[in-house]
Amino acid sequence: MAKMIVGGEHVAARDGAVMEIHNPATGEVVDTVPRASVEDVRQAVDVAYEAWRKWAETSAAKRAEVLYKTAELVRENIKEIATLETKEQGKTLRESQIECSRFAENLEYYAGLANKIRGEYVPLAEHDKYGLVVKQPVGVCAAIVPWNFPVSLMGNKIAPALVAGNSMVVKPASTTPLAAIRLVQLFHDAGLPAGVLNIVTGPGGVVGEELLVNPKVRKIAFTGETVTGKHVMEVAAREVKRVTLELGGSDPMIVCDDADLDAAASAASVGRFFNCGQACLAVKRLYLFDSIADTFLEKFLPKVERLKVGNGLSPDVRTGPLHTAKQREEVEEMVQEAIAGGAKPLAGAKRPEGEEYAKGNFYLPTVLVDVPPDARIVREECFGPALPVFRVKDLDDAIAQANDSQYGLGSSIWTNNIAKAREAAERIEAGYTWINNLHVAYDELPFGGFKQSGYGKEHGVEALDYYMESKSIVIATP
Ligand code: NAD
Repeated sequence: MAKMIVGGEHVAARDGAVMEIHNPATGEVVDTVPRASVEDVRQAVDVAYEAWRKWAETSAAKRAEVLYKTAELVRENIKEIATLETKEQGKTLRESQIECSRFAENLEYYAGLANKIRGEYVPLAEHDKYGLVVKQPVGVCAAIVPWNFPVSLMGNKIAPALVAGNSMVVKPASTTPLAAIRLVQLFHDAGLPAGVLNIVTGPGGVVGEELLVNPKVRKIAFTGETVTGKHVMEVAAREVKRVTLELGGSDPMIVCDDADLDAAASAASVGRFFNCGQACLAVKRLYLFDSIADTFLEKFLPKVERLKVGNGLSPDVRTGPLHTAKQREEVEEMVQEAIAGGAKPLAGAKRPEGEEYAKGNFYLPTVLVDVPPDARIVREECFGPALPVFRVKDLDDAIAQANDSQYGLGSSIWTNNIAKAREAAERIEAGYTWINNLHVAYDELPFGGFKQSGYGKEHGVEALDYYMESKSIVIATP
């Protein structure tokens, strides 16, 4: 049994309760983890509260050293951790390895910022006084992490939090705690003092809820569904806790008549179907200029058909299973509802057949045209391998449809015309616009949604601000 890590110790739930972790490709039990109670969470928060001041007083160089060393250990153990992630999450081993590498790179990025955090000297009207603005850590932070990128989305929170001098309690998704626990152990192996980083496993309604209400937790860093994020914000408001919310998305991709269609077709295929379509910034709506739509589809559809579906541990597999049976059902329902409304499938729209697929949550990469604009697959977030494709008459039409969504996470435009690219970048209501680029987040750039896709940013130097308070100090020099 894998255990939680609290105060540097591996611990079970006090009442001994456990949860099974299942492999989405085979249905087999991978391992069990503790099912924490509210008391278990309180203890972890108390331990983090005890630890944070000492960590805040630790030198920036020491904080950076721990993160650099952890990154090194992640790379040394990458095969083992990635395999664990594939077994619990379902994504391909290659995708898990990329995610673990990104985790390490993210730690190094923030480790490099540790000694660059600075405040301000502010002259005041009275000449014998001056002001300083200093940055202080917030205190105990909670990281609430979803199952689709259990490694990188945890890293996005831990790295800036620890560099800024906070302590943290991590709550991984109930179905993906194993790689996360292993990684938290590596921080300790790298010399992180006990209690600074803790991980508690259990259901969102128990573990997550206690983190939201516990008065010693001063900041919640949440990634998950928009509906859960709204709840997090409401509860956090009662104690005026700081929150950052990275929520759902329905990213539009626009392909113009002058685009490099081969590059765009590859990006649409990877962008929609990596991680079996279960990515917040996946391409979820594709808008093709009418004049190139047929040529684009001729290039795109063979790429989709070639994506081999199967167990993510097999080297030739490009798309693993959906994470849970429920997740597959939701995607199937959205696809079937669209077809009932007049949509036509050009690929997929069914489960793959054969013995190797019998026990996993597999679904074929799906492409739909003639989708009614009010179908749920357009209006809501489709978190799986299904892509609605639309024809648009010009850029105005494309941008209007792209913006017709409650979400505003990412977006892309494919064109060789700088004026069109600029117009789209300015007018699309989203936290990211990629121009002729795959939908991927960069460590160096702030990432976070507009509208109901989120509040606050992760990545970039900006993320640090969400883990620090600005304190004003006045110094009188009589
Ligand atoms: P989810 O909202 O169901 O769960 C996210 C986390 O919140 C889990 O750890 C869960 O246990 C916890 N949780 C559930 N109920 C809670 C409660 N009452 N109080 C506190 N915590 C609670 O989301 P999910 O299904 O795990 O993840 C998929 C969603 O995440 C998608 O909508 C996706 O777009 C979004 N996402 C967003 C980003 C981003 O950066 N914007 C990145 C990845 C995923």
